Amino acid sequence: MSERTRHIAIVGCGQLAQMMAQEGQPLGITFSFLAEEGENTSCVEGLGELVKLEEHESGEVLYQALGRPEVITAEREQVDVALLRKLQQFCPVYPDPHIFEKAQHRLREKLALTESGLPVASFVPALGADELRRSLGTLGYPVFIKSCENGYDGKNQWRVKNQAQLEDAIEEAQSQACVVEAAVDFSCEVSLVGVRSVSGEVKTYPLTENLHRQGTLLVSKAPFHDFQLMSQAQSYLDKLMRDWDYVGALTLECFVTTEGLIVNEIAPRVHNSGHWTLVGAETSQFANHLRAILDMPLGDTQCSSPTAMINMLGVNKSPSQKNEGVWLYGKSLREGRKMGHVILVDDCSRRLSRRSDAVIAELYSKSH
Ligand code: AMP
Repeated sequence: MSERTRHIAIVGCGQLAQMMAQEGQPLGITFSFLAEEGENTSCVEGLGELVKLEEHESGEVLYQALGRPEVITAEREQVDVALLRKLQQFCPVYPDPHIFEKAQHRLREKLALTESGLPVASFVPALGADELRRSLGTLGYPVFIKSCENGYDGKNQWRVKNQAQLEDAIEEAQSQACVVEAAVDFSCEVSLVGVRSVSGEVKTYPLTENLHRQGTLLVSKAPFHDFQLMSQAQSYLDKLMRDWDYVGALTLECFVTTEGLIVNEIAPRVHNSGHWTLVGAETSQFANHLRAILDMPLGDTQCSSPTAMINMLGVNKSPSQKNEGVWLYGKSLREGRKMGHVILVDDCSRRLSRRSDAVIAELYSKSH
């Protein structure tokens, strides 16, 4: 008897959808992609059926247009939750829409993290100038003011160190609902990517150290050698996955402080800080996300040699330095845009850092 073709629909058409499809094809999975109106689809062209979300295409019509997928997933948290709920009547949607509801709104996210007992920076919800000014009375400077919605890669957030900056931020934030967060004194930032399958099998990748430039991830390095922090992060991720009955890849982004980890945010999906797994782990985060949502046994998540991933932000020229792979997403060039990434592997983590610095110097020498 021939095996049934497994078909997955992905909401979103960016590089995360692209890499999911590239990693899924060798597993015999076919794909379709749901594009919002005006969404750029260049990343996923040739990788499966493209469906444009027209207003009349809701519910069953949309499910049919997507090729009657076995399961639906998403490459981003900013998705239409009501639409996912409609699609859920026809096939499973993983992660469940209630997760997206939390992750796409900073206040709901913080409350959900706190409810599960995870430590987050002290915060105060604030709407409008008066509440924003009052929040400083509670938290004191410095703070981060973050809009509840549409915040990613440091967008829609303001670091505020004094009253003048507060007034500037108030003007920019206008009437958006915000969360005001005490600034955390951290030594570095780390993330943990884990996967949980429909049957409840859980695997986590090693803790990864992340370096940002102007709010956007520039470099990720794994493994981050700290057994205590790794087990702390793992216990937090396990707790969330159990509390939320989570299915798929889940990423936890944290600050490392003298008191241990403070959770900054979560991403209910494969994550940029997990791209190194394409080379550095036996099974990538993309393949494991697909395995998890199809309830297949999960693959090995260990990192055999120190691995680094360098984002190509606003540059699309491959470095001439020795590397273990360059991924170009096929997007048109724009300042600061994630155009691709480079992966380096080395037995020696010091040498890896030197090589990684050299790649960054080459990539950014002229454009930055
Ligand atoms: P986010 O959009 O929340 O991921 O924030 C982008 C970056 O801003 C983080 O990676 C941190 O480097 C910095 N950041 C955000 N929130 C805080 C905070 N409460 N304390 C210190 N740094 C922060």
